[in-house]
Amino acid sequence: MAWFKKTRKPIDNPDKVSRVPEGLWVKCPSCGRALYNKDLVESLQVCPHCAHHFRMSATERLSMLFDEARWVEHDSGLQSLDPLSFTDTKAYRDRLATTIKKTGQNDAVIVASGTIEEIPVVVAAMEYAFIGGSMGVVVGEKIARGAERALANRSPLVIVSCSGGARMMEGALSLMQMAKISAALGRLDRAGLPYLSILTDPTTGGVTASFAMLGDLNIAEPKALIGFAGPRVIEQTIRQKLPDGFQRSEFLLEKGFVDVIVDRRELKGLIANTLRVFTGRPAVVRPPAPAPGAPADPTPSA
Ligand SMILES: [Zn+2]
Repeated sequence: MAWFKKTRKPIDNPDKVSRVPEGLWVKCPSCGRALYNKDLVESLQVCPHCAHHFRMSATERLSMLFDEARWVEHDSGLQSLDPLSFTDTKAYRDRLATTIKKTGQNDAVIVASGTIEEIPVVVAAMEYAFIGGSMGVVVGEKIARGAERALANRSPLVIVSCSGGARMMEGALSLMQMAKISAALGRLDRAGLPYLSILTDPTTGGVTASFAMLGDLNIAEPKALIGFAGPRVIEQTIRQKLPDGFQRSEFLLEKGFVDVIVDRRELKGLIANTLRVFTGRPAVVRPPAPAPGAPADPTPSA
């Protein structure tokens, strides 16, 4: 019999993402290969070996979507006032202050206008690094204003969701944003203007339960976690093992919750083509497909 026994297992990192040394090499959590960060930036944060999609920041997302990575940001000065004077493990006011300092943004969404393949569009991109991309009063207000701006300019709206859901620290006020944004999207719909919802990893909670599922086309990135409650919460509640791939894009496509899954490297082309169809713009004649081994053409295959 051994004298010493290890009773505790080492802490398991759920994402298994190792970024050592910071900023130079990244280990792909899917295929395990070491990727040079500069290559990863060029491939839009998609692993060139296995097509694993890394999470993108809101600014990276906007740079990828807008022509020449140029856009005009709206309502960037809006900041939460901590309406409930909320405290959990730390005061919400302090949490906001440190997150604003860390991310350089005032809340969890950037709303901007610009062009996608020359089509004027309003895009809202959520920032997961800002308190899990959670939706509080500011996120709700900025997205609703974005929808109203699209309505005023008669331009399409695209929302890129990346969020853990409604922001607990703003309680019922954050839940009201679901109704507010949905109402603004309803006005856009009645005016005959398209709204495309892009669901990225993760899109959960109140965001899924409102605007993320209301797109004229709901487009998901591969293997993104999309759901209302997380799989762990459901498993603990129903005390059953969930099927493989539950709440991933592919499962939801099969069940009809999302319309199409597209590789991020083809996303911009798909958005532009869809908007051309919705707005009755003439199709763009693209050059013939590149030879094997050449960089991928952004025309979607789906
Ligand atoms: Zn990989």
